[in-house]
Amino acid sequence: MTEELFREDASLLACEATVLACDEAGVVLDRTVFYPLGGGQAGDAGTLTAASGAVLQVADTRKHPGRPGDIAHVPAAGQDVAAFPAGTRVVAAIDAGRRRAHMRFHTATHLLCALVPHPVNGCSITAGYARLDFHMNEPLDKEALSAGIARLVAEAHPVRHRWIGEAELDANPQLVRSMSVQPPRGLGRVRVLEIDAVDLQPCGGTHVANTADIGPVIVTKIEKKSAMTRRVVLGFAEPAAG
Ligand SMILES: [Zn+2]
Repeated sequence: MTEELFREDASLLACEATVLACDEAGVVLDRTVFYPLGGGQAGDAGTLTAASGAVLQVADTRKHPGRPGDIAHVPAAGQDVAAFPAGTRVVAAIDAGRRRAHMRFHTATHLLCALVPHPVNGCSITAGYARLDFHMNEPLDKEALSAGIARLVAEAHPVRHRWIGEAELDANPQLVRSMSVQPPRGLGRVRVLEIDAVDLQPCGGTHVANTADIGPVIVTKIEKKSAMTRRVVLGFAEPAAG
């Protein structure tokens, strides 16, 4: 079982950890700051550095396919994991620029949810763009949505998460905006993401602490994917940094 440090503090960039297992899926640690692909958000990349000095480049992070509760740090192509057997002490450090982009875009998708009051049936968040598919057939206005996001960013709303009981979620089904992803059940509690006066919904992803930290994000494209699907694509308004 990997302790998920990123769920409580998305600003952590590194942690010390111990290798629990190393197999074809990747390196499993007892705790990690690496977010695994999920809820539409891409997995983290970064490095694992052993006490011996050996460095493993991690290209992606996934929930381990064969070990429930474990997170697999997926080595980049050509990386040798021989120096990382079970028991190895490591420092796990994420690619901060890539994660920062994920956090900014992910938080921006919550603003979009607040601006477009329709169910979501698809979501993808990467370092280069984010896209959200809404179940709707009404047209959407690109400039109006960009202006709406800019307004909510400028208003600097605090962003925070908390945990609610499953019974509380059952009593408030309108909280669940996503048709395609249901919050994980069976743990007794569900993580909800709250943007003051803007949005409240179950979400396990990583977010910035205030909407002001999203910075300049604009709608770059709106596509009609099907009769009942409108896809909204977000991009950064400034050139990508490093
Ligand atoms: Zn979220």
